[in-house]
Amino acid sequence: MDPEHISQDLKAVLLTEEEIQSKILELAAAVERDYDGKELLLVGVLKGAVMVMADFARALTRHAEMDWVAYSSYGSGTRSSGVVRILKDLDTDITGRNVLIVEDIIDTGLTLSWLVANLRSRGAASVEICTLLRKPEAAKMAVSVKYVGFDIPDEFVVGYGLDHAERYRNLRCVGTLAPHVYSD
Ligand code: 5GP
Repeated sequence: MDPEHISQDLKAVLLTEEEIQSKILELAAAVERDYDGKELLLVGVLKGAVMVMADFARALTRHAEMDWVAYSSYGSGTRSSGVVRILKDLDTDITGRNVLIVEDIIDTGLTLSWLVANLRSRGAASVEICTLLRKPEAAKMAVSVKYVGFDIPDEFVVGYGLDHAERYRNLRCVGTLAPHVYSD
């Protein structure tokens, strides 16, 4: 295999493309049931949720609008603190709207809790969360997460939108990185 091949940097594949895609169909079916007869606005969190949003939105057979937010959280080390700076705000007025936040991964959930409170304060009719991946730490979150794809161990993962130093987002699977990536 070409030594530049992206998958050579993986230690293990945690979720295959097939597992991810079939879970996304399940999540979309659940959302279609729950939002039957209601309008729906999907809010993706940049950049990680781009892949989930693209596949999830297309798995829906109903109308759904899409908008995006981007924010950075000030944290110590690798953990977020919940203190947030908005880099890109919504383009949409969400007053009276049913908002479904689409996320790639929830770790501590601190920044996401902030986002939920922020969207609720703008008068949304409802704000729920759909995440592909959830780590154990997220169990301590104050806000409940309605749609969860996979509960995963507390390991650093990449792929399917998730990066390490802006790389690996374009992997079709989710996996852990080989030690050489960190030492190179
Ligand atoms: P939280 O506020 O839930 O602690 O932080 C969530 C954010 O941390 C995610 O949106 C993602 O950017 C980053 N993150 C948390 N765990 C991982 C991981 O295992 N891999 C990658 N690539 N990013 C992660």
